[in-house]
Amino acid sequence: MTNKPIPYGRQNITQKDIDAVVEVLKSDYLTQGPQIAAFEKAFAEYVCSKYAVAVANGTAALHLCTIALGVQPGDIVITTPITFAASANCVRYAGGDVIFADIDPKTYLLDLNKVEEILKKEKNVKGFIPVDFAGRAVDLEALRKLADRYNCWIIEDSCHAPGGYFEDSEGQKQLCGNGQFADLAIFSFHPVKHIAAGEGGMITTNDEKLYKKLLTLRTHGIIKDDASFKNSVDIAYGKQLETLNFKPETFPGWYYEMQYLGYNCRLTDFQAALGNSQLKQADEGLKRRNEIAQTYFDTFKSKPFIKGQSGVVEGHAYHLYVVEVENRKELYEHLRANNIFAQIHYVPVHLMPYYKQFGWKNGDLLVAEKYYSQCISLPMFPTLTNKEQEFVINCINNFYNNK
Ligand SMILES: *Cc1c(COP(=O)(O)O)cnc(C)c1O
Repeated sequence: MTNKPIPYGRQNITQKDIDAVVEVLKSDYLTQGPQIAAFEKAFAEYVCSKYAVAVANGTAALHLCTIALGVQPGDIVITTPITFAASANCVRYAGGDVIFADIDPKTYLLDLNKVEEILKKEKNVKGFIPVDFAGRAVDLEALRKLADRYNCWIIEDSCHAPGGYFEDSEGQKQLCGNGQFADLAIFSFHPVKHIAAGEGGMITTNDEKLYKKLLTLRTHGIIKDDASFKNSVDIAYGKQLETLNFKPETFPGWYYEMQYLGYNCRLTDFQAALGNSQLKQADEGLKRRNEIAQTYFDTFKSKPFIKGQSGVVEGHAYHLYVVEVENRKELYEHLRANNIFAQIHYVPVHLMPYYKQFGWKNGDLLVAEKYYSQCISLPMFPTLTNKEQEFVINCINNFYNNK
């Protein structure tokens, strides 16, 4: 085989992206400069949320969200097993317990009926972390109704779905991360995701209180705003008031307070510049992803070896194009032999040895486990050429025709 390797996903870095990064490297700020605020503003506009907080990566975004929402030991949070482990791990970071609810076999997303079954049995459920898996938007309107009935919050894990949306009951487009139904939403800028910054993440919300809390949690829980200080002015000067030879009324310029146990989850300015530059081509990428999906769908819709597929769905952001097939292992190896690096998303999180120690086992979530036994993610990225996609399709067809 002489064709160039075809991965399941890859970034597309343009000269404009490179120029944007170089400009920051020549500027006064490598971190905590003007690029962060510019990226946050542009990203909030892109997903139609009020606020956005840039952080070091998607996992840090999830972590700060569970801390900001006050997850504690004894709290239960529901998520899907068909996701990257970080969607569940963030609950453990805060000391909470994870319950995995099974997925819907058609959408591959959290099955709301299964979520409700858990809510009826468990008293301590505090929130849900739905995942817009593969780029398909969760129906957050329906999930919000459930959340309100049980007094739960929602963190939307939108790592796969910037630009994705669902239509609500009034026919309105609801963009992933727009904060209409979820309390918080998170995104990742890892190179396999839509917008690449090397590493990077974003939290979006419409809740001002959570927004302000997240800003401080991002930098050690430190506050620099005079009006919010808790200590009195004398402590800020380092002396007892009676020993000062003047009567201070305002805090000195250097003073700051650490009010919460925060972290260093900052993004650098050059990453923010790259992310912001990438964001400008996000819509174009989304359009191309939709074309690729349409071609896969049309090709595979009547094939007997296809047991299920991502399909053509309005508002799908197609981070992945998943097909469910017979003889998955052999197909995976056949594709590899042809330099096509399809991937499996995901090994169900409840079957990870770490989660098995809490009692999770094979057979607990039958829909997710069956999906896992036959899923494979085909190459899906904006720079995939028609010829390359044709090659992938021919390889798959040949594999099954020759069986
Ligand atoms: C990539 C991803 C994450 C984690 O993002 P990082 O930036 O890699 O930390 C979390 N959830 C999902 C669904 C992801 O795909």
